Amino acid sequence: MTDQEDVRARIEARFTKGFAAVLAVPDRWLPHLGELDRALAQIHPGYQVTQVKEKYGELRFYLPAQLHEAPCCEEWEARHPYPPSPGPARDDFHEALTAHQDTSDHRRQVTQSRERRRKMQHLISLAEEQSAHW
Ligand SMILES: [Zn+2]
Repeated sequence: MTDQEDVRARIEARFTKGFAAVLAVPDRWLPHLGELDRALAQIHPGYQVTQVKEKYGELRFYLPAQLHEAPCCEEWEARHPYPPSPGPARDDFHEALTAHQDTSDHRRQVTQSRERRRKMQHLISLAEEQSAHW
């Protein structure tokens, strides 16, 4: 495998399920994308992408939308289905959700998750800016 194929394979493996794993960029960008991928993986080893492409000669690199504030919320939601109709069950749901959001573990995870996202978006913005000269 050449270095270029390796970078393509590495990034294509990061596409979120349901998105076309196509790295629509010129080959000459691959060393730069390899660096970006390594830097992002240092912040979040399992990070995913939804789109990586060239637009108007510049890189566009998209992370998935965040459905949950923190990983703990994903687990919490899996254990607490949202009651379909208004009533006591839904009141209990909201009470339990508020209790979850008040836990120190939740607050810690939210802070970490936001910080991680902020650092990743910063690196991505820099790469998108610089890509005009790649
Ligand atoms: Zn949570």
